[in-house]
Amino acid sequence: MTLAELSLAQLRTELDRKKISAVELAEYFLARAESRTDLNAFLHLDRTLTLAQARDADIQIAHRNYSATVNALTGIPIAHKDIFVTRDWRTTAGSRMLENYVSPFDATVVEKLKVAGMVCLGKLNCDEFAMGSSNENSAFGAVKNPWDLHRVPGGSSGGSAAAVAARLTPAATGTDTGGSLRQPAAMCGITAIKPTYGRVSRYGMIAFASSLDQGGPMARSAEDCALLLDAMAGFDTKDSTSIDSAETKVSIWRSFQAESASKTSPMLEFENLRIGVPKEFFSEGLSNDVAAAVRAALTAFEQRGATLVEISLPRTALSIPAYYVIAPAEASSNLARFDGVRYGHRAADYKDLGDMIAKSRAEGFGAEVKRRILVGTYVLSHGYYDAYYRQAQKVRRLIAQDFQDAFKRCDFIMGPVAPTTAWKMGEKSNDPVAMYLEDIFTLGVSLAGLPGMSVPCGFGAGEMPVGLQIIGNYFDEARMLSVAHRYQQVTDWHLRTPEVSA
Ligand code: GLN
Repeated sequence: MTLAELSLAQLRTELDRKKISAVELAEYFLARAESRTDLNAFLHLDRTLTLAQARDADIQIAHRNYSATVNALTGIPIAHKDIFVTRDWRTTAGSRMLENYVSPFDATVVEKLKVAGMVCLGKLNCDEFAMGSSNENSAFGAVKNPWDLHRVPGGSSGGSAAAVAARLTPAATGTDTGGSLRQPAAMCGITAIKPTYGRVSRYGMIAFASSLDQGGPMARSAEDCALLLDAMAGFDTKDSTSIDSAETKVSIWRSFQAESASKTSPMLEFENLRIGVPKEFFSEGLSNDVAAAVRAALTAFEQRGATLVEISLPRTALSIPAYYVIAPAEASSNLARFDGVRYGHRAADYKDLGDMIAKSRAEGFGAEVKRRILVGTYVLSHGYYDAYYRQAQKVRRLIAQDFQDAFKRCDFIMGPVAPTTAWKMGEKSNDPVAMYLEDIFTLGVSLAGLPGMSVPCGFGAGEMPVGLQIIGNYFDEARMLSVAHRYQQVTDWHLRTPEVSA
């Protein structure tokens, strides 16, 4: 096996046995990243910065016996979605608006992974301000899917998903407002988890829709995601929506290990697991190839003892209009700060202050961002607030309630992540509504603030990967990751790699 194929635990062993140094590991992945500029996954690479962090990690590993700071992730490379601010690398959020922006501080997630000893490989391309489902909205060009360079990688964390899938990095961070961790993971055949809202700090994550945004890990397996999420999560006084409760104090990694170890009979390891299968997720709109792969995964769980329970999430279709009112509303407010004064690009020529702001915003934002600002401003305006925004918030409440009703009858909900596999570039870019419809199975989880995962479960049309979505109740991440891990113990979909990356 090559280094690119090793799990995080295996990389740890290599580093601890001195088979390889953190510097060599960083060099190895930097070389891979540099060799695949065709994917357009990385926006910023900086060898000097990366290797300096790797040298620090090597010093810590060398003094392991005296150092309390070496942990499971020390010396392992990770790359960040370019929406997490970093003190050293530029942060663009995929926008011209922030083309030359360098943050004076690190996002909490970046800081936590740095403290854990992880080595930052660089910053990853994404849809502008994380708005999109295909990564075609980046001001710095589309990202390509490593399984087929003519297809999109999904979005908005498409750079993260493509980089992990092509094994340019062992792990990446991403964010999910309406599906952006799960959907690109599904389309690129990797594993990702969107945590419960409030589990991971949003401090330093450039805001799109604050009541929905949540960061999380993207990696090859559920086990790797468990290690990463454990290091990323935790209460943060700098984020007022970060949650401090009994649940968030428990170690995700330790609970994950306990959950994974307690299953004795390998043939009936999912005994007592009740899986809710929402009938609305298997209705019209779901393509046959995706349905077949997801059904096969459900059967694999059933054969190992799980019980499948048909459930209903009756307002699934309403999640699209509700989300596409609430997210643009919050975006229009969050993006007000990009005015050429407080933040962002400033136009060169202007008549007065108003003209300066108008020109700067016209030049700095791309078409999709402008569309959302217009929609958001409209639904929040006097006379429409009650008709649209307040109504959408009521629907959101009901969607959250539907999930709670469903969880009375099952432990986890499973279904497809997206209705189709990755589509051809350009296919939907001129039709925003067609693009929004692709989000139908991920939006409800985001609106409800629930944790959700994408786990590779097969291939569909065009030999493109299919993701199984697992949805858990609040703070059930460790158990959910363990269910996914045990599925990955008996399947090898997550180990498949795109041939073009060889
Ligand atoms: N596709 C959705 C949107 O465009 C979700 C994006 C996200 O989760 N960041 O808003």
